[in-house]
Formats: sequence, C-alpha cells, structure tokens
Amino acid sequence: MAEPVISATGLSKSYGDFQAVRGIDLRVEPGEVFAFLGPNGAGKTTTVEILEGYRERSGGEVRVLGEDPARIDRAWRERVGVVLQECRLTPELTVREAVAQYAGYYPSPRAVDETVSLVGLEGRADVRTSKLSGGQQRRLDVALALVGDPELLFLDEPTTGFDPSARRQAWEVIGTLRDLGKTIILTTHYMDEAQALADRVAILAAGEIVAQGPPGRLGDRDERATRISFRLGAGRSPDELPATARELARVDGHEVSIEAQDPVPVLLELTRWATDAGLLLDGLEVRQPSLEDVYLELTSPAAPADAGHGERPRRDSG
Ligand code: ATP
Repeated sequence: MAEPVISATGLSKSYGDFQAVRGIDLRVEPGEVFAFLGPNGAGKTTTVEILEGYRERSGGEVRVLGEDPARIDRAWRERVGVVLQECRLTPELTVREAVAQYAGYYPSPRAVDETVSLVGLEGRADVRTSKLSGGQQRRLDVALALVGDPELLFLDEPTTGFDPSARRQAWEVIGTLRDLGKTIILTTHYMDEAQALADRVAILAAGEIVAQGPPGRLGDRDERATRISFRLGAGRSPDELPATARELARVDGHEVSIEAQDPVPVLLELTRWATDAGLLLDGLEVRQPSLEDVYLELTSPAAPADAGHGERPRRDSG
C-alpha cells in the first residue's frame, strides 16, 4: 500500500484544562476525499489546523505528506493548499491578477488561466475581486489554494452560505480536483455534501471520532432496518392491517411506521391488502437510515453514555 498522505495516532489537543481533541486515530490515502463532520465545538477545526501545521498539538503522532506538521518547512507548505472559512483578498485586483499574484509565491505553479477555468471563473477573470458574489469569491479562494498545484488540499466548509445551484457547481469543482488525483480534506455541516463528495467520513463528537467509514456504510446504516411509513385513511384502524404489518407497526394517530430488516415481503403484503381494500397508502415512504439519521444518533447528547469515549468499539466500516 502507498504511504498514507495523513496518519495520526492518539492526536490530542488541550486548551488549558479543556481537552478539545481526545486522542484520535486517522489514516488518509492518496487521492481520497475525506470529510470531517461533527457538531459545533466537536474539534474539527482544531484537528484540521493541527494537520495543516497551523496549530500545535498536545500529544500523539502525526505525519502529513511524510512530515510532522509541527516542524514543517516552506517546501512542505508548497505541497499543501488551504482554503479557510474566510479569506481576505486585495479588492482592487482582478480575478486573474489575484491568481497570478499567488502563482508568484510558488516554484512551479499551475498556469493562471487554467486555474481560473478549473474553478469555473473564466467568465469573471477580468472582474475585480470586490465585485464577485459570495459564491464566486469562494471559488476564487479555491483557485488561490490550487495555483501552487498542491497534492493535498484542505477545504474548510467550502459551501457554507451558497445557494443550491452554487453548491452543486462547487461540488463539480471538487469532483474535478478529485479526478486530478488530489487528496482532499473537507469539513462540512452538510450531510448531502459529505455523501456526494467524500470517499470516507469521520464523525467527531466531543473531541473523539465516534464513527468512520464510507458515507453509505457509516454506523452500519446499510445493514439497518428499512422504515416503511404511510398514513391510514380516516376511519381505518391499525387492527385492519395485514398480519406482519400489524405485528411490526408503530402507530401515532394516523401515522404508521414499520421497521423491517427485509422490507419486500412486508411491502408486498401491505400493497396487496391496500389494493384489495381499495385503499391509498397515503404518503407511502420506504427508506433506509440516512447519513443524517446516523449522524444525529451518534452526536446527540442522548447518545449512549460511552459514546465519545475510547472504550466504545469504533464503528469503522472502512
Ligand atoms: P465548529 O463546527 O463550530 O467550527 P469545531 O468542531 O471546528 O466547531 P473547534 O473550533 O475545533 O470545533 O473547537 C473545539 C473546542 O475547543 C470548542 O469547545 C472550542 O470552544 C475550543 N477551542 C477552540 N479553540 C480554542 C482556543 N484557542 N482556546 C480555547 N478553547 C478553544
């Protein structure tokens, strides 16, 4: 196996008496898109800034591109691109000039116009940065991080505040970067973003990784029961449901939900019953737990008491 781009064992960080990151283990392979998810204050920024070499750790072993980020040099910095949550640009420069200025900081930068196109700003290359929309500024941030042609890119909440179409466009840009073979570390609060972009996700809660793996398998969600839900028509009683559905159903007013490991026979029985009785299964939905369901379960204050502590067997599906 190739050397990992990032490896960390027992990474921890304390601010005074407060332990913000409590001994996390990570391994990110070349070309992976790896996302950190977690509630406010979970320790995402702290972890990422330690990996970026911008914050000192309190303990643990860390290697990023083969070096300890606490002791990096300029050559290492040139291999790493960072897009922070807020980036201040010189307002009087145009997009092309800003990218060209950054290109000057690197020994072998990417071509300026190519970089501008890569983030979809070719139509705005001659516009002053102060005249860009929020979404366009964010793309310019990505262009500035890319112009040095880094191997590893950190994107901190890259689409916060974007409208839905700007988000989709940003996802396309990130997809292009993945196709170029870049390793990307993403922090995000959007489940759909992690689902769409990340090869693997780590959920951080209270400074610990409580689940890690491909988004489709996180928290074993691919193996969990499927939920069938619908509304019973007025005047109908749950006692009328067919046998299996009646046995499994949870009823709240007119709302019926059924959890089944194998939903097909239950659905077959239900739809046959409804067809025979001439009923509509109003609002019928069939779904597996979403990434958001698993996330909320793992990060809620009511999560099992040992969640977030080292003894809990890690749900590592990756
Ligand atoms: P968010 O989603 O809100 O950005 P986060 O997961 O990135 O949150 P961090 O910013 O890493 O969380 O913060 C983790 C914890 O460490 C929080 O409780 C925060 O208050 C605390 N913290 C962060 N930076 C410092 C600091 N410089 N001094 C003291 N405490 C800090």
